[in-house]
Amino acid sequence: MYAALTVDGITVNSLEEDSSIELTVDTSTEFRCSACGADLAETTGGFEDGNGDRDCPAHAPDDSDAGDTGAHIPQRVALSWCNSAGIRTNETDDAITLSLSTADPRGAFEITVRRVPDHIDSPYAGRLLLHLPYPDQPMPHDQMHPLHPGTFVLGQPIPAHHTHLTPA
Ligand SMILES: [Zn+2]
Repeated sequence: MYAALTVDGITVNSLEEDSSIELTVDTSTEFRCSACGADLAETTGGFEDGNGDRDCPAHAPDDSDAGDTGAHIPQRVALSWCNSAGIRTNETDDAITLSLSTADPRGAFEITVRRVPDHIDSPYAGRLLLHLPYPDQPMPHDQMHPLHPGTFVLGQPIPAHHTHLTPA
């Protein structure tokens, strides 16, 4: 195998053997204040910044509530749901695996394409197989709940009251 690793279109390395490439994402901050930009932590009493303050310094009080500083405005940090994304090549298996970790950082959803060896006595010899995650698979990375063909809701089941209406 010979492959080139590019980052944002720039070649940074050439790969000649089995390779494992991983992009790790900083997931330490899930919420940030959209007004002042402070990293926020969710507590039982609300969202606090690094100083333990719930009041936002960027809040501009209007005339009617002078003296009220106002709370931080929490906003989810983009891509904070992702622990890592990776590409792994395996020449022995003639396979490439893509991985996306969204739950336990020690695991990941994996998509693999593998070529069945030519010398195997099978109608699939020489053909490519695509392996995908599926609901209820053993040792799942996370629960998968079908939404549309090819689309799943991850994690907690979809609340039952969202799937049907109770007649009055
Ligand atoms: Zn703020």
